[in-house]
Amino acid sequence: MNKRLALPNGVQAALLISFDVDAETMWTSKDPRNADRPAVLSHGRYDIEVGLPLILDMLDRNELCATFFVPGWVADNHPAAIEQLHARGHEIAHHGYLHDGMHGADRAYELEVIRQGITALEKITGTRPLGYRSPMYEINLHTWDLLRDEGFLYSSNMMDSIWPYLHDGGPQPLVELPVQWMLDDGPYYLVSNHPPNHRQVYASDTVVGIWTDEFRGMHPLGGVMTLTLHPQITGRPSRLAALERVIDNARSYANVWLPTHGELAKACLGGADD
Ligand SMILES: [Zn+2]
Repeated sequence: MNKRLALPNGVQAALLISFDVDAETMWTSKDPRNADRPAVLSHGRYDIEVGLPLILDMLDRNELCATFFVPGWVADNHPAAIEQLHARGHEIAHHGYLHDGMHGADRAYELEVIRQGITALEKITGTRPLGYRSPMYEINLHTWDLLRDEGFLYSSNMMDSIWPYLHDGGPQPLVELPVQWMLDDGPYYLVSNHPPNHRQVYASDTVVGIWTDEFRGMHPLGGVMTLTLHPQITGRPSRLAALERVIDNARSYANVWLPTHGELAKACLGGADD
């Protein structure tokens, strides 16, 4: 069984804030014909033009560093925007190359895509990424081996826990920082024509209520609440204001830590030998 990892001493619960900077790849990976649909692609352009600058200012205002999962294509095509994230102290982590789903990918192809993504991010940061989140959280049975071989410290893809844990097997430790669709902004706010995706647009109050209730329940359990956000979704002014309410709420509890994913994975591993 996977080994649950304790939070570092003095930390009762953690809130992890992550942004998946999918930009245009959110749309081209859903349907290649979207490359010829400027209005559909403009959802993705919002990431770069408006979402990221507003998010960076919000994080500065709240004295926070976050983790940005960036597809390699986005780093290659919008290097100035991604360099800005790195320059302002945020963590850059791996989110595929073209943002295409890896479900059913064979080992050799998945390794090739992972390496393409590493190369693109290394050009920005000068170092290999510590963390991996697959597009749409789609992984395969061989993915853990590939991540270990490529020197990753953590994955943030699984929905089987509220605590960080150590993946079984392999010589090097691989930490899981669990996620949940309920803690992803997409299911509440994302609407599109291509593909047709006409969900109800949730009021921010509803989402703040779900996320603050989750944290309220998580805190006594000593868990980790991972928010998976997107600049083109949560980068809207109203949604960003709602996120600040979630951050303020988490900080009203005792002994709460809001680290980057990499900081938490390293800190949890520090206590892994006991
Ligand atoms: Zn994504």
